[in-house]
Amino acid sequence: MAQQEDVFKKLVAHCKEYGFVFPSSEIYDGLGAVYDYGQNGVELKNNIKKYWWDAMVKLNDNVVGLDSAIFMHPTIWKASGHVDAFNDPLIDNKDSKKRYRADVLIEEQMAKFDDKIEKEINKAKKKFGDAFDEAQFRATNPNVLREQAKRDALHARFSKALNDNNLEELRQIIIDEEIVCPISGTKNWTEVRQFNLMFSTEMGSTADGAMKIYLRPETAQGIFVNFLNVQKTGRMKVPFGIAQIGKAFRNEIVARQFIFRMREFEQMEMQFFVRPGEEMKWFEYWKAFRLKWHKALGMGDENYQFHDHDKLAHYANAATDIEFRMPFGFKEVEGIHSRTDFDLSSHAKYSGKKIEYFDPELNKSYTPYVIETSIGVDRMFLSILAGAYKEEALEGGDTRVVLRLPAVLAPVKLAVLPLVKKDGLPEKAREIMNTMKLEFNCQYDEKDSIGKRYRRQDAIGTPFCVTVDHQTLEDNTVTVRYRDTMEQERVSVDTLHAMIAKQVTGAELFKKLLE
Ligand code: ATP
Repeated sequence: MAQQEDVFKKLVAHCKEYGFVFPSSEIYDGLGAVYDYGQNGVELKNNIKKYWWDAMVKLNDNVVGLDSAIFMHPTIWKASGHVDAFNDPLIDNKDSKKRYRADVLIEEQMAKFDDKIEKEINKAKKKFGDAFDEAQFRATNPNVLREQAKRDALHARFSKALNDNNLEELRQIIIDEEIVCPISGTKNWTEVRQFNLMFSTEMGSTADGAMKIYLRPETAQGIFVNFLNVQKTGRMKVPFGIAQIGKAFRNEIVARQFIFRMREFEQMEMQFFVRPGEEMKWFEYWKAFRLKWHKALGMGDENYQFHDHDKLAHYANAATDIEFRMPFGFKEVEGIHSRTDFDLSSHAKYSGKKIEYFDPELNKSYTPYVIETSIGVDRMFLSILAGAYKEEALEGGDTRVVLRLPAVLAPVKLAVLPLVKKDGLPEKAREIMNTMKLEFNCQYDEKDSIGKRYRRQDAIGTPFCVTVDHQTLEDNTVTVRYRDTMEQERVSVDTLHAMIAKQVTGAELFKKLLE
């Protein structure tokens, strides 16, 4: 674990050193849990958004886009339940004065049992080799059974406390499990309290009685209140979806772990409207589609898992998370929720407008049910970087830091490098760059040795380095050096474009999604 925390620290430092993520307002010592994306970060972020948008909107003919405003009528947040029920259970440690989410402390405790079980299994795997039967081991090994029983008991108690909204019981669990504050190391806890996560501001001048409005804590509501606008003007037929990418704001109290939990972040959400009664079918459909979307990136199938919610939100009748193995354990990257007709019905009630769909096949009107897929851009960014960051030992005792980013997401697709800064090589390199940059984000670099230039590109995850040498001037060939294998290949400049395009445009990944 300590080693993984170390990796995480290095990753955060790497993000800053190579222009991916900077703390916001850094020259003023930063602003808690707010971050800026640098020259490479913004490219990676845009590529993630494009991969999502194209997979959702371009690939699915029954999904269309939307870009709704951040400011919305304040009654929307009453109708959505956020004014009354958008709370986190908080607990403070009296010695360190640090504040924690009670549910997160308990979830981390459960993860400790999982870790112990995994360790036992790994030990046994090593011992028994190919003959190892994991299912049997889990069912019979006394150590595993003991830890599993403890975990199950804690899980049952925790779920019940959450569902009963029983704050005292949450505190009691923390006490009984002897959970300590990671900073002070003590068990000196306050009561558990609820805290609303919405930021508010005022619209209009105070003299005429300004209106209190909220910064949206999710983009979803902008979709719900535009349901009829889009359905009618797009002549959409249920089932159909509306997708949107945009900023969301939450006054997170426990804002740690870098860009995992931010106060200003970005979401990519899709609401899929279906016939009542068909929601579970579509819930399963989108679960499968979204997992495929993640796995298609090639970050390792074993790094993803579903995690069903212990407590369903007030609007949901089914919910699951897609979790990714971060350096600090499996963590939620995306939520998939069956939101019933809660939102549309509630907006109909609060606005006094009829929000229904007339289904020509059934010859009747109804309020559609909704399946939501909701993923944080920033969390996705973190998961990709965490999966891609590698420190590798090379032959001859050298090491390199390389970001093994999926080529589709890499900020820079190719670097064009003249071997030396003379003999017409820079001019030839510029010429190649000028045609490539029409389509790909390229970098030109002529400073330092070729080895050093390769390392710089490895560190930002550039999949291809194209080196121009004297032979290029004779036969129009270049050396392509591949980031992951470090192998080099001599290719004709004429074939370069097609080779790179195949790797960096989304088409190959999208084919996998449609399989
Ligand atoms: P958590 O339990 O971690 O607070 P959540 O279940 O409240 O998350 P949702 O409301 O389902 O999250 O939001 C959907 C997605 O938005 C999450 O899966 C996550 O990727 C992203 N997200 C939510 N809160 C934040 C945040 N504070 N910072 C960055 N991303 C976030």
